[in-house]
Amino acid sequence: MKKGPARDAPTPSTATRRANPARDARLPDLSQYGRLAEYNRKRHFGVTPEPPGTTRAREAGRPLEFVVQKHRATRLHYDFRLEHRGVMLSWAVPKGPSPDPSVKRLAMETEPHPMDYNQFEGVIPEGEYGGGTVMIWDKGIWAPVVENRLGDEDEVDRQLKKGELKFVLLGQKLAGSWVLVRTRGTRQWLLIKHRDEYASGEDLTVTKPLSIVSGRSMAEIGRAAGASPRQLQQAAGADPVLAPSAAPARRRAASSTRREPVRSRSRARGKVASSAP
Ligand code: MN
Repeated sequence: MKKGPARDAPTPSTATRRANPARDARLPDLSQYGRLAEYNRKRHFGVTPEPPGTTRAREAGRPLEFVVQKHRATRLHYDFRLEHRGVMLSWAVPKGPSPDPSVKRLAMETEPHPMDYNQFEGVIPEGEYGGGTVMIWDKGIWAPVVENRLGDEDEVDRQLKKGELKFVLLGQKLAGSWVLVRTRGTRQWLLIKHRDEYASGEDLTVTKPLSIVSGRSMAEIGRAAGASPRQLQQAAGADPVLAPSAAPARRRAASSTRREPVRSRSRARGKVASSAP
């Protein structure tokens, strides 16, 4: 099989780099090169709490990470990220992943993120790229699949090039067999669940809306991380109205009003579900 030239030059050894370039001015700032260049170019690391982009070497035998981050930026979406060659390949899924095999979810490919980003839950300040509240909605491990066995990194490259990536997830909300299929251009994909024992008609974005690491809602994350009033209202609007809260007594202590269940159609529309003062 003919192998084309790599689109991305290999990133220089991380051993020669510093997280803080100012610490050692003699070392060149290499953040403009490699697979995280776009990520770094879009962000001001003196302002945003997001981590600067550096690639990480993979220890042999360690499973590949995946993460899904719920992100109320200009619009609500779920960032679906798969570890590959030291970075997190990323797709923005506006409606979030669905475990229903008959549902195809649009997934727009976005710039690869650093692996450190998998730990990020908080608020990106107003005016910064992607400004808004971020929740770690699910995480776990993943593996590429080729026919009836697991594939390797080269297989991932092959399938990405072909525009059809088959994989298995082992997360706390998402599991089993999935596929990403490219539909148009270079960035538009569909995320689809395969039929297996993890398939269901459950809307996980409604039934399991809380952070997998902190148990918090979007509003609670926004409040704790200094969201602006506008961002806080948007974060609250991204929570399902009847989100089972980690601390329902505390949140509702001042009010005896019991809310009626509201169907999911109003869920994604921030202004409808918002109960901001
Ligand atoms: Mn995002």
